[in-house]
Formats: sequence, C-alpha cells, structure tokens
Amino acid sequence: MAACIFCKIIKGEIPSFKLFESEKVFAFLDIQPLSHGHSLIIPKHHGEKLTDIPDDQLSEILSVTKRIAAASGATDYNILQNNGRIAHQEVGHVHFHMIPKPNAEEGLG
Ligand code: 5GP
Ligand code: ZN
Repeated sequence: MAACIFCKIIKGEIPSFKLFESEKVFAFLDIQPLSHGHSLIIPKHHGEKLTDIPDDQLSEILSVTKRIAAASGATDYNILQNNGRIAHQEVGHVHFHMIPKPNAEEGLG
C-alpha cells in the first residue's frame, strides 16, 4: 500500500535497522524501543490485521520472531501484536513486537 510506513520500510524508501529479510517476511528494530532490542517482525504482504494474513505466512513470521527472540539473548521477553485502534495499533500493517525484558540482576529497565 503506497502510504503505509512499513511498506515503505520494506521497499527501503524509509531507512530502518534491518534484522532479517526473506521473500515473505521482514524484521527491523523499533524506532522507539521499549527496551534494548525491541524488534518488529512483519509480513511483506500488506494487511492491516492478523486476520488479513494468509496462514502460510504466519508460520514463517512466528518462526522469525522466535529466532530473533533467541538471538537477542534475553531470557525473558514479550511478544505483542495489536489489532485495531482501540487495541492500540498505531501502524496499519500487521506487526509482531518482540520486546526483550532485561535481566533483573543487570539493573536495567
Ligand atoms: P503499534 O502500536 O501499532 O502496535 O506499534 C507500532 C510500532 O511501530 C511502535 O512501537 C513504533 O515505535 C514503531 N514505528 C512507527 N514508525 C516507525 C518507523 O518509521 N520506523 C520504525 N523502525 N519503527 C516505527
Ligand atoms: Zn503496509
């Protein structure tokens, strides 16, 4: 979709810190991270909500999300996925948040 921020990021029209790219999936760092390593994992296919994404793409998105969580080194993390304005979705292109929770003993966050 032409006006979509995340579609522009996929095309390289808006810069991002890319973490992963395949034929169907793209992942990058969140511009306003809630913690160090806060990442966004998205389908390249534009869809607004989870229900707009074909099943065959969801499995790869979850797999990439899992691998990015592992690569972050965090033992604890949140995976979040908002659908619709009332549910706090700000960008209308489906995305999964991977938000590492810093180890308590490190005294961060
Ligand atoms: P939502 O509230 O829609 O679930 O989350 C949207 C996320 O996208 C937010 O965490 C926000 O910081 C991130 N975001 C919005 N615009 C950009 C951008 O241009 N670049 C990057 N890397 N992240 C963005
Ligand atoms: Zn889009």
